Amino acid sequence: MNDQRKTDFMNIFASHVDHLDDLLEQQWHLIEDCTEENQDSLIADSRDIMLHAHRAILSSCRRCKLHAGRINMVYGEGNHNAEVMFVGEGPGQNEDETGHPFVGKAGQLLDKIIEAMGLSRRDVYIANIIKCRPPNNRNPEHDEILACKKFLDQQILIIEPKIIVTLGTPAVKTLLETDRGIMSLRGQFSDYRGIPLLPTYHPSYLLRNPAAKKDAWEDIQKVMRFLKE
Ligand code: SF4
Repeated sequence: MNDQRKTDFMNIFASHVDHLDDLLEQQWHLIEDCTEENQDSLIADSRDIMLHAHRAILSSCRRCKLHAGRINMVYGEGNHNAEVMFVGEGPGQNEDETGHPFVGKAGQLLDKIIEAMGLSRRDVYIANIIKCRPPNNRNPEHDEILACKKFLDQQILIIEPKIIVTLGTPAVKTLLETDRGIMSLRGQFSDYRGIPLLPTYHPSYLLRNPAAKKDAWEDIQKVMRFLKE
C-alpha cells in the first residue's frame, strides 16, 4: 500500500469510525481481490493503519466521564497480528501515567505468564475494557463500560486474534455479556463473535492470592495447547 493510499484510508477511517464494521468489510473485500502473495502484507498494513487511526481518534475521546481525570488514554499495545489477545479491566495509576497497559506489579506478573507461554509482549496484544483510569482505581461503572466497549470490540475486529484471554471478572462479564463471575467461568472456553475466549484470573488477584496461581497456570496451559492445535 503506497503512502497516498495509506493517507486516503486514514481519512476515510477517521470519518467512518462509527461505522467501522462496514469499513472493515469493504477492506476485506479489497484484500480478497489481491493476489495471494500480496494478501499477508496487505492485511498487516491494513491492521497497522486502522489501529493507528483508531488510537489517534480515541486519544481525545469524551464519551464517558472518565475522560475528565485521565493523564493518558491507555489504548492497548502489542503485535497487531497477534494470535493471543489479553483483555484486562482498566488502567491504574502507573498505566495512566505512562499510557501503557499492565506496567505495575500486575503487569510484571503478566509478563512472567507470557514468558512461561514461550512468548513475549511483542508477540501478543494487551488491552482493557476501559481505556481511561477510574478515580482512585475504583471499579469501572456500567455506563463507562458501555461507552468504551464499542472500542474494544473494534480493536478485536481489526486484530482478529486466534484466542482471547480475559483477565478477571469485569473483562469476561463485559465480553460475554454475562452476570457470571470469574470463579464459575475460569478455564472454560467460550465464544466471542466466533473467536474462542478463555477466562482466567487477573494478575492483581494472583498477587493477593498466590494459591490461585496453580489454577491460572492450568488455564494458560489450555491456551498453549489450543495454539498448538
Ligand atoms: S474510558 Fe473509553 S469511552 Fe470513556 S473517555 Fe476513555 S476512551 Fe472514551
